[in-house]
Amino acid sequence: MDKIQMTTPLVEMDGDEMTRILWSMIKEELLLPFVDLKTEYYDLGLEYRNETDDQVTIDSANATKKYGVAVKCATITPNAARMDEYHLKEMWKSPNGTIRAILDGTVFRAPIIVKGIEPCVRNWKKPITIARHAYGDVYKATEMKIPGAGKAELVYTAEDGMETRELIFDFTGAGIIQGQHNLCDSIESFARSCFTYALDVKQDLWFATKDTISKKYDHSFKDIFQEIFDAEFKEAFDAAGITYFYTLIDDAVARVMKSEGGYIWACKNYDGDVMSDMISSAFGSLAMMTSVLVSPQGFYEYEAAHGTVQRHYYKHLAGEETSTNSVATIFAWTGALRKRGELDQNEALMVFADKLEKACIQTIEEGKMTKDLALITSIENPTVLNSQEFIRAIRQTLEGNL
Ligand code: NAP
Ligand code: MG
Repeated sequence: MDKIQMTTPLVEMDGDEMTRILWSMIKEELLLPFVDLKTEYYDLGLEYRNETDDQVTIDSANATKKYGVAVKCATITPNAARMDEYHLKEMWKSPNGTIRAILDGTVFRAPIIVKGIEPCVRNWKKPITIARHAYGDVYKATEMKIPGAGKAELVYTAEDGMETRELIFDFTGAGIIQGQHNLCDSIESFARSCFTYALDVKQDLWFATKDTISKKYDHSFKDIFQEIFDAEFKEAFDAAGITYFYTLIDDAVARVMKSEGGYIWACKNYDGDVMSDMISSAFGSLAMMTSVLVSPQGFYEYEAAHGTVQRHYYKHLAGEETSTNSVATIFAWTGALRKRGELDQNEALMVFADKLEKACIQTIEEGKMTKDLALITSIENPTVLNSQEFIRAIRQTLEGNL
């Protein structure tokens, strides 16, 4: 069989620890034998980030702006322990944060659905994708403890010195206050990323806030979404046969539980933090969760939702066998390859991405899986494979289907 040709390179962002090991196995077994893989390679492994003073992360994000599609391996976000472990010059920032800041994107997380790994919520049949706004609100709030009686106010001083005041509370005793903010630009970008992604995957978009209580703050989110939808996306949504649906956050939560899934749920920062953990654990496993960063200009960066699986890596280094699930990382590759195919009108590449995804699902549904899935599957007597065997089993299924 001739290898599938590519016309434009993918931006390849390599990473750390166990996922770095999986990364090269996936390329070796599942990509290079079938695709004449073109990538522009950036090593985001912590050692090279440190060597380049993190410039490599910035370069990789800029390359994503140039080519439009990136695929990223999980990376270490340094903490105090990593400073010693890797002899770091600085506690470098989270690469995901740096890339997100440059691309101004929104992260969409979706579970990979497989028969035999059933969601806790019985009626969920299709994935629920969470889009979390990643700026502001309580994450950038200013807080104060109020020691006793006194008046607390919000004060805005315009550049010309004009002051606008709003009373927060006339305290008669001790209390607490919190000042939150957000930016119209950021909310607009969030809205555009959500509408763009919904069109891309042809799924309905839900959005919810508490605008009945928060008549200026949350209501601004609601208004900005509606204005951008009406002005820029309504026609395309109609043509694609999908809808934009706004409701109150508490109503949304109730509807999500009763739904069968199959839509994107856009969340404010805090709601997204909380709800994405609920959705991913209810669907089964973080190792079966994909993640894509979509910029309002339509640049895409695909990755797995889990981290570098450090505990397994140390076992690997000690020469012990590991059974690490590579599905989310494989789906990061297929997501990127499919998107590249779409942009380049490369049908063969898109078909390959579909077939590789199907091969992963089929392999698991036939009872061959890694340990994390074997612990939660409803399939009887699953065959537990190690990291390498699992990838080879997927290759066998794929070759059978090609
Ligand atoms: P983690 O790598 O997601 O792993 C946490 C635990 O979840 C693992 O120990 C393992 O449980 C299980 N797990 C996760 N992915 C798995 C997989 N593919 N197959 C099987 N089991 C899996 O989170 P962490 O240990 O908290 O973080 C490790 C490093 O990852 C940190 O340095 C952090 O900064 C980084 N991180 C990066 C990203 C990213 O790049 N997007 C995201 C999160 C964290 P058992 O040990 O019980 O088997
Ligand atoms: Mg959280």
